[in-house]
Amino acid sequence: MSRSIRFVLSICLIAFYLPSCFGDAYDGKPKLVVILVFDQFRGDYLDRYRAEFKAKNGWNLFLKQGAHFTDCYYDYANLVTAAGHATIGTGAYTDGHGIPLNEWYEPGPDGNLRSVSSVADDRYTLVGAPAGTKDMTGASPHREMATTLGDELVLATGGRARVYGVSMKDRAAILTSGHATKGAFWVDHATGVWETSTYWMKQLPAWAQQFNASDHLAIARSSSGVEQGSFYELVGRTVASVVYQLDFAEALITGEKLGDNPAHVPDMITISISSTDINGHAFGPDDPSQEKLIVQSDAALDAFFTFLDKTVGLKNVMVAMTGDHGVATTEKAGEAMGMPVLGFSPEEFTKPLEQKLEAKYPLKGRGKYVLQMDNPYLLLNRYAFEAAGVHEEEAENSARQMVEEIFVDFMARDSSKAQRNEPPELTHVYTATEMREGRLPQTQYGRLVAHSYSPYIGWALHLNFGPYQFPWHGSGTTHFSANSYDRHVPLELFGSAFVPGTYHGVVAPVDIAATFASLLRINRPSAAVGRVLTEAMRPELTVTKAPASPSGFSR
Ligand SMILES: [Zn+2]
Repeated sequence: MSRSIRFVLSICLIAFYLPSCFGDAYDGKPKLVVILVFDQFRGDYLDRYRAEFKAKNGWNLFLKQGAHFTDCYYDYANLVTAAGHATIGTGAYTDGHGIPLNEWYEPGPDGNLRSVSSVADDRYTLVGAPAGTKDMTGASPHREMATTLGDELVLATGGRARVYGVSMKDRAAILTSGHATKGAFWVDHATGVWETSTYWMKQLPAWAQQFNASDHLAIARSSSGVEQGSFYELVGRTVASVVYQLDFAEALITGEKLGDNPAHVPDMITISISSTDINGHAFGPDDPSQEKLIVQSDAALDAFFTFLDKTVGLKNVMVAMTGDHGVATTEKAGEAMGMPVLGFSPEEFTKPLEQKLEAKYPLKGRGKYVLQMDNPYLLLNRYAFEAAGVHEEEAENSARQMVEEIFVDFMARDSSKAQRNEPPELTHVYTATEMREGRLPQTQYGRLVAHSYSPYIGWALHLNFGPYQFPWHGSGTTHFSANSYDRHVPLELFGSAFVPGTYHGVVAPVDIAATFASLLRINRPSAAVGRVLTEAMRPELTVTKAPASPSGFSR
């Protein structure tokens, strides 16, 4: 064969193969973006139980067909539900989005401090709540101080992209999806009925009313074997509640025709499954019931993603899955392994702290000094200190010194707990003033605490305890700390943009918003700090199609 004929032949071969290469490459335009969160889902679960996952489109959608990251860690030190979901949605930590806790204290209409939830909003009322609901206070994302990926998608498409949030928990539905959404839905805890807030709408959409009126609730109750009692607390521990949440998401996708946008722009849904958190708090990460719940969720996810395949088509869907925080081993399970695990009552140090503070600063009638230990923050009563003529820095410094003295006393006396247990150990204490002014050490721990700063938290201490030691009531376990087991979550990506495989580099949940914003060709959220996960992305050989912005939208 002559050189020139070989040259012509190879050009023909290249020309023949190129279109299929381009066909495989990411085209910048999924029809539906899904952010899937499992609440309190630690980063080791999927590999621990992967041999038990049998379904094609269940957990194996990520483990076999997607990009599976083994080392995803949050880089902050307040690992709670509201902060975690805000972090996933905004791609920022608490110092960017402002959400520090699930609840905190704000001045109420009477001028006294009152506990408020991260999403409570007096300007709105609940919609769809069952008759007789006592507290009809509405909800909104108004305390979330950064935009979400969903917000930026709506802005980039001139309001044409439709974004929704779903979860059994209001904060998880609202803070992940954002401000410019078409709706967020959560359940009434007692009954399991789906509701929303007048922030979004005056009445539930017809498809949601139909869902509430259908037999879904009865089926969830009967298949969980929980006919009486709190839907959230009791049915919520079982796979029946996973199915219930995913079925509602299916009804939403069908009812709103998500993934079939008339303007041909991507739609988005965030779904947070609360069940693993409810069961995990009660029984811990190593209990057979948690393994069962995760393994049974395989079939529920398979049904959901198979539904998406039949409707929107999985090739048109881009999915990220993660957790809002990990969790500590229970005291019982840890002791059985010879670990110095310790759950202890927060009153063991908040009571002596109150006594010491009152001895130094006599109360002046604006309540007690210690509001509560709301892990990882010890919240102090600003008004009580101000009445006594004590300013914030002095109040915090005094409280810190006293807390440290109390913990030295713990170390000195014999623990009343099992012999193996060490007394509770206070590893770090920083004041809200130090966090606000950036007076933190240049260490990993200092960085984690800096990322936990929120203007909503003043007059407070940020505490961290020894490994697997936590202030907690009850037999189960909890999460909140800067320790790795609370910060470790899964990160799974599925879609035509990603190269399937297992990735061991250290990544973070904030990378989801950065990566998806890059792939959607939109601005990343306003305070986003994540990295684009290029190691898991297919090379884009050429730009053959328009990015996410709709044709004709050119303002
Ligand atoms: Zn939790």
